[in-house]
Amino acid sequence: MSKTNTHDVIVIGGGPAGSSAATWLARNGHQVLLLEREKFPREHVGESLLPFCYPLLQDLGVIDQLKKNFVRKPGVRFIDRDGNISTTWCFDHVIKDDTYLSFQVIRGEFDHILLKNAAKNGAEVREETSVVAADITSESDRVTVTSLDASGKKSVHSARFLVDASGRDAFVGAKSGWRKPREELDRTAIWSHWGNVKLTGGLEEGLSIIIYMGLEQKGWIWVFPLGENRITAGFVAQNSYLRDQQRKLKEEGSKDWKQDLCMQELRHSKFVQGLLEGSNMLIPMQVNGNYSYEVKNHYGSNYAMVGDARGFIDPIFSSGVFLSIKTSSLVSAAINKQLRGELNGKNEAMETAYKQVSGAYNFVHRMIRLFYNPHSVTWAQAGADGKTHKDHENAMAAGHYMLSGDFFENYQKFEGFFQILEDPKQFRRYKKLVIDRDDFVQPSCHSRWEEVFKDMVERDAERTAELAL
Ligand SMILES: Cc1cc2nc3c(=O)[nH]c(=O)nc-3n(C[C@H](O)[C@H](O)[C@H](O)COP(=O)(O)OP(=O)(O)OC[C@H]3O[C@@H](n4cnc5c(N)ncnc54)[C@H](O)[C@@H]3O)c2cc1C
Repeated sequence: MSKTNTHDVIVIGGGPAGSSAATWLARNGHQVLLLEREKFPREHVGESLLPFCYPLLQDLGVIDQLKKNFVRKPGVRFIDRDGNISTTWCFDHVIKDDTYLSFQVIRGEFDHILLKNAAKNGAEVREETSVVAADITSESDRVTVTSLDASGKKSVHSARFLVDASGRDAFVGAKSGWRKPREELDRTAIWSHWGNVKLTGGLEEGLSIIIYMGLEQKGWIWVFPLGENRITAGFVAQNSYLRDQQRKLKEEGSKDWKQDLCMQELRHSKFVQGLLEGSNMLIPMQVNGNYSYEVKNHYGSNYAMVGDARGFIDPIFSSGVFLSIKTSSLVSAAINKQLRGELNGKNEAMETAYKQVSGAYNFVHRMIRLFYNPHSVTWAQAGADGKTHKDHENAMAAGHYMLSGDFFENYQKFEGFFQILEDPKQFRRYKKLVIDRDDFVQPSCHSRWEEVFKDMVERDAERTAELAL
């Protein structure tokens, strides 16, 4: 029988949710053990961050490092499949300080920065250590966690509280039978990174580009700039469409259907086809399947789920990392109160935190349903700059705030904008008054190269010089 190690909090998983929770809890003086299955840096999908991440990352103490490492993101451009309709949403329209400029990150590096930061703040971090069992049902209310390290050594740990941040494995939810798929969002993504790309169409200003693929795929393409000549690009489509295409490609003799399918779908967009000419793929094709699910029983007296372990929704609005870190911030504060005993039996702080978290997830889910509703507006049609159309100023600002991440504290205030988008009659009027203008379809937020790329390019030059010594 192995010796049991005792801690205040055990965190499963060292992605953005786990490492930020570990940082905040360790800073509050709790003894935190974080167990991560992989050796970092490891590749991960989800590279485009919402501006509302900025203050959280600042509080975590990593913002200066992020500024040096990654492309800055001033906004997002939605395009329809044929490239005929597009709108560009610039965050500085509503965010008037430095935080409007978000980040396009290489997740392997970004997650590693956050994980090292957790260790720097006092958490004990063990990589290449998988959690294989977690018991949250003991009468004593302590949790018992069993882990296996890379050498196959088994360890048993005990703690007052368990944070499940195991991502889409949703460890506690899956083991307890609490995870179920959201069938209406049953989709798969295939993606990679490409180098030697000439950035155009707004990418050269750091913009995210999202292309709606239409009714057959019920999906979309993303293209984000990760460097001066590097992009991440991928497509998301409904599983039934993917199965049909996979069969078709195999019948036609495809030796690598994932690669062929990804290229086929990306080339459906003339814009992406042009970008990829002369480029080279930098990492093997990645597949993320069946990714939409929900989990119930998000917290109990001795455990809490954060990030994708709490539930996952379609990533069309690049909201995942923000939802994860923001949830960790609210939930860590509630755990801190509980562990300090500042409560009278009932953890109201946790209830309040999860009410806000569920409000935010439900809100994003409503935005997503709207995106996929063929009878409703597409986001490629739904923007405006508001200078000339004061009547719709509020609706337009609401759209910018929603896309920036303002949906934890303030989601109720967007009801009016939702109603415009959801009602075809109201939307037609809005479109006529607001959208059909030349300036709004420009692929630009007028960002300068110095703002978007300079720090990262200088850091790369320094790195190359150091390696040459
Ligand atoms: C196609 C696609 C595109 C996306 N695009 C975006 C985007 O542009 N912007 C955005 O913000 N989000 C995006 N997301 C969502 C984003 O990837 C996630 O929301 C985010 O990574 C969640 O962070 P997390 O810390 O909860 O989980 P993860 O980042 O997945 O981390 C979980 C960690 O737990 C570890 N782990 C799992 N099980 C165990 C175990 N048993 N023991 C020990 N360790 C374990 C894993 O190794 C992993 O490192 C996208 C997702 C998909 C699928």
